[in-house]
Amino acid sequence: MSSPPIGVFGGTFDPIHYGHLRLAEELYQTLGLSEVRIIPAGQPPHRGVPRTPAAHRLEMARLAIAGNPHFKLDDREVRQARASYTVDTLTDLRAELGAKQPIWLLMGGDAFLGLTTWKEWRNLFELANIAVAHRPGYQLEQDDALNDELRLEFQNRQTSQISTTAAGSILLSPMTPLDISATAIRSALQSRHSARYLLPDPVLDYIQKNSLYL
Ligand code: ATP
Repeated sequence: MSSPPIGVFGGTFDPIHYGHLRLAEELYQTLGLSEVRIIPAGQPPHRGVPRTPAAHRLEMARLAIAGNPHFKLDDREVRQARASYTVDTLTDLRAELGAKQPIWLLMGGDAFLGLTTWKEWRNLFELANIAVAHRPGYQLEQDDALNDELRLEFQNRQTSQISTTAAGSILLSPMTPLDISATAIRSALQSRHSARYLLPDPVLDYIQKNSLYL
């Protein structure tokens, strides 16, 4: 029997919010994961340098998941000096966990729509299964949502079963729609508007204590 699947959830988490946490929690349940590795990006290659130093983003993630025994903070991308690419992180994890371990890479619909811009994106399917959670405002099922290359992979790999294979499947999963983004939180904080109830109180306290996003 293969060991239970693990989830891998990367992001900038600038800051981490309830959209992230519900995605991880709901996919943890849906996929029967043994744990979810939360992996804050060091230097995300896809976007400008995040405005918040990695050490703060890591600490906010730590506070956000405290008390949830099946979420594990993984600081590998923050520790490395080079830019963080998901394909490299998954290659490292695969080497650590072995070829048979089922791995699910978790992401929101917006991230999946941009997948073909990721480094060596096709290799991701050799390394992990991909679970895509619906995100308000991003319709994957619209005819022209996916570019041709991605649509082909999607059609070939989509499953409605919770696959127990080590890698290679794509599962589209509903989740409680939460139209929360880190961008909107940063902008609320900068305008001195309340961001309360969009993210955990300890994270908000940390932001205030460290005068972040002003
Ligand atoms: P920003 O607004 O700065 O772009 P973000 O809120 O999109 O940030 P990221 O850290 O970029 O957060 O996202 C990490 C992962 O979480 C991505 O896979 C993204 O699709 C997913 N995600 C973020 N917010 C939501 C949400 N509200 N619902 C579903 N998925 C989400």
